[in-house]
Amino acid sequence: MTTKIRTRFAPSPTGFLHIGGARTTLYNWLYARRHGGDFVLRIEDTDEVRSTEDSVTAILRSIEWLGLDWDEGPVDEKTDRGPHSPYYQMQRVEIYRKYLEQLLSEGKAYRCYCTKEELDEMRKLAQLEKRPPRYDGRCRALTAAQRAALEAQGKKWSVRFKMPQDGVTIVDDIIRGQVRFENALQQDLVIWKTTDGPTYNFCCVIDDHLMEITHVTRGDEHLSNTPSQIQLYYALGWKPPIFAHLSMILGPDGSKLSKRHGATSVLEYRDQGYLPHTMRNYLALLGWSTPDSQQLFTDSDLIAKFDLAGCQKSPATFDTVKLQWMNGEYIRQMPLDELVERAKPFLEKAGLLGLPGPDLKKTIALEKEKFKLLSEIPGLIEFFYKPVVMQPKAEKNLAAPGVREVLLGLVEALKDFAPFEDKNLEARIRKFCEERGLKPGQVFHPLRAAVTGRAEGPTLFLMLEVMGRETVLARLNAAAERLK
Ligand code: GLU
Repeated sequence: MTTKIRTRFAPSPTGFLHIGGARTTLYNWLYARRHGGDFVLRIEDTDEVRSTEDSVTAILRSIEWLGLDWDEGPVDEKTDRGPHSPYYQMQRVEIYRKYLEQLLSEGKAYRCYCTKEELDEMRKLAQLEKRPPRYDGRCRALTAAQRAALEAQGKKWSVRFKMPQDGVTIVDDIIRGQVRFENALQQDLVIWKTTDGPTYNFCCVIDDHLMEITHVTRGDEHLSNTPSQIQLYYALGWKPPIFAHLSMILGPDGSKLSKRHGATSVLEYRDQGYLPHTMRNYLALLGWSTPDSQQLFTDSDLIAKFDLAGCQKSPATFDTVKLQWMNGEYIRQMPLDELVERAKPFLEKAGLLGLPGPDLKKTIALEKEKFKLLSEIPGLIEFFYKPVVMQPKAEKNLAAPGVREVLLGLVEALKDFAPFEDKNLEARIRKFCEERGLKPGQVFHPLRAAVTGRAEGPTLFLMLEVMGRETVLARLNAAAERLK
């Protein structure tokens, strides 16, 4: 029997879900879905100072918005479900304590009484001697009597894991191949804090084992933790999972993606009007590609083709221009009804919902080819629903000599004209130009300006049809009135 593939995303709830975390979530989800496995969400909240419930909320909302479902893990900020519950690490402390006792009693870990000052001292000395900072192991060999004496003085202790002092630890990484780490250069990792709580590296190993995780895919900032984690697996008598460390994400200037480059939180992308499908597709390509460099994927296509082995070692560059292009593509492909639904939160925010005016489906359809972001929709259609606000360029188009007569002439020509429809309107208005000996631009530009307040916009005659006779005439009259 082959083992079922189980992947996980294990965020620390110390902030929002950023682009890198979203990509990690997606890759784990895709890999599990591709292989009919399970995708687990685990909240690593052992940093009591920095972990917040708001971050948990933001992370859960972000993953839900991305459309990635998890098979086991949180149901809300406090409860969870799944065979390995709890999935909140702070609810698992007694489990970790048991393994702590085991390592201590087997002599694979030891109490360390060094104070912060002593550790700072060690770090400074290492800096001075130009060595990598590393705990010098002074508490490794304390006798029971020495420990008792220190404890009698009220000294606080943490627990360190005894890393092997020679040899190498090889991380066999799907993406990076075999990465070798000299054990002599590794720290004796703190696995239990002086404040009587477990640390990330310890919990992570125990949970990945107990939760039967087969593949650990995470950002490459964790590669340096991996040799110690592997040694912890050995010390506990367990087999390590398979590792895949994803390359860094850079901004367009080549430095690590950060706030400086714009939005980094997933929910900001939602608020800017990106579609979840765009994000799934775009993030999938941020460090992974198919041999034929396919760009647009349906979800089932992505699931069928995604492979950790196809991920690149070199950093990926986040490119907003490409992201917007892709979003525009998916907006164009989207059925109109769905697009209207997706636009609603943005229309609501702009105060455009529930106003009299043409059917949203018609006005949105007029500009569908142009939108790159859902958030652009209100601005491009608001003149259908709100009073005309004259923009400077439109004002200029109305300032030409004879424009008032043109507008009043159009009122006459259109007031009983039927059918008030695209092609017929075009024919009628072109005829109007001929009758008056005017070039089309001399009529079209002021007409558009008068009814929309803008110099640019949707295709003119269809727009007039959608706006409807009553509004068109009223706006032509109002503009003529102002030119008096
Ligand atoms: N809790 C860690 C983080 O948010 C995840 C580490 C891991 O995936 O092993 O960075």
